[in-house]
Amino acid sequence: MLTGKLAQLDGDYDVVVVGGGPAGMAAALGAREVGANRVLILDRDREAGGILLQCIHPGFGLHHFGEELTGPEYAQRFLSEVCDKGIDVLTDAYAADIDLDKRVKVMSGRFGVRIISGSAVVLAMGARERTRGAIRTPGTRPAGVMTAGLTQRIVNMLGYLPGKRVAILGSGDIGLIMARRLTLEGVEVVGVYEIMPYPNGLNRNIVQCLNDFDIPLHLSTTVVNIHGRDRVEKVTVAPVDASLKPDLTRCSDVACDTLMLSIGLIPENELSRHLNLRFDPATGGPFVTSAMETSIDGVFACGNVVHIHDLVDFVTQESLLAGQGAGLYATGHRKPADNIRLIPGDNVASCVPHTISSDRDHTLYLRVKKPLDMSTIRLGEVYEKKLRYVFPAETLTVTVRPRFLENFHGNSLRIDVQPREPA
Ligand SMILES: Cc1cc2nc3c(=O)[nH]c(=O)nc-3n(C[C@H](O)[C@H](O)[C@H](O)COP(=O)(O)OP(=O)(O)OC[C@H]3O[C@@H](n4cnc5c(N)ncnc54)[C@H](O)[C@@H]3O)c2cc1C
Repeated sequence: MLTGKLAQLDGDYDVVVVGGGPAGMAAALGAREVGANRVLILDRDREAGGILLQCIHPGFGLHHFGEELTGPEYAQRFLSEVCDKGIDVLTDAYAADIDLDKRVKVMSGRFGVRIISGSAVVLAMGARERTRGAIRTPGTRPAGVMTAGLTQRIVNMLGYLPGKRVAILGSGDIGLIMARRLTLEGVEVVGVYEIMPYPNGLNRNIVQCLNDFDIPLHLSTTVVNIHGRDRVEKVTVAPVDASLKPDLTRCSDVACDTLMLSIGLIPENELSRHLNLRFDPATGGPFVTSAMETSIDGVFACGNVVHIHDLVDFVTQESLLAGQGAGLYATGHRKPADNIRLIPGDNVASCVPHTISSDRDHTLYLRVKKPLDMSTIRLGEVYEKKLRYVFPAETLTVTVRPRFLENFHGNSLRIDVQPREPA
């Protein structure tokens, strides 16, 4: 990958971006676009690019570039632009702490331990994967239990296979993509077991990664035991009832040497917690305004740190906004505060951003709680739109325009996604 080589490290920047994944790179470009001169991206990895570097499958960039790219190609386009725009990139640099004066403690392989100041800071640290401990799966502790993202890194970047016969717990997108990848590499994928009565990944991934390769998907089923001393030998699976409780009288054993977990991501918010930001329990990330500013002045956040995205194109859109917000803050041209709070109502699990302003367009990113076929999304009394279907795994985006709000004088707007009768 093309990457910037930083010859010296300044102590003061207009904008410091923590994390050099797609979110961090787009935020740095956004800050530059609105006039921030000194912009620094920090990343703990050897190269910037984040998760994209291990995603060697196509499917990235359809919204943003109007063409289908692999993860490394998508990352490279941004990294080239970052270098062209003279943005500093420091890799092998871990942001260990951050304080209210926006001083970031950096541990760098090249410069040692240094304190860097930013007039504004953007948090773009991504997400981590949920592990076996997060869902308390019983059984022994053999080798061969690993997350889908780790498997992706091992196979795509290091060139190893995780095992010969793999069972997958959870139908998240990364697991589905790895089911196909492992099959193409000659590994036998015996099945995907999903506790919910519906899949947790995008429909296109169910079709292209499971159906096209005859990999069975078992809904309303979970793993209730892991067996094996040194290495996984088998797992026990059981159907679950409506309250997700396994029926242990109907267990069966599945022989395998690997259990791959694809059971969700959690925003990587250690640093945000040091800052004591206000958090949204529904997303696991901070509350953010329409400029992606957190509850602390001058601290912005974007990407998976705020809420888990299913498409990197949405990460890019949202992160450009965060970077522009940070750049305007750093150069003293901050936009007026938002005047409307958004409240998740019926069948809305989460909504980002948490506040908007009535004077400009906004894209809202929503997650529903349960799937519905024919439904209507309503923003209070001001706007409604018919939807053919909604699905918890698929982010729902809504554009709110100032004309919807012309006759609205309240300070909070409730969002509902409700069933509707077929016409
Ligand atoms: C395993 C996995 C596979 C995925 N596959 C796809 C896919 O196929 N298609 C798709 O559209 N989306 C995919 N996603 C969704 C993905 O989350 C987004 O597309 C995108 O990568 C999120 O961007 P981000 O910049 O927020 O996070 P990331 O890409 O995770 O980048 C975060 C960066 O922050 C750095 N960092 C974290 N903490 C620190 C610190 N304290 N100091 C310095 N640096 C730090 C990390 O090293 C990393 O480079 C996948 C996600 C995961 C986890």
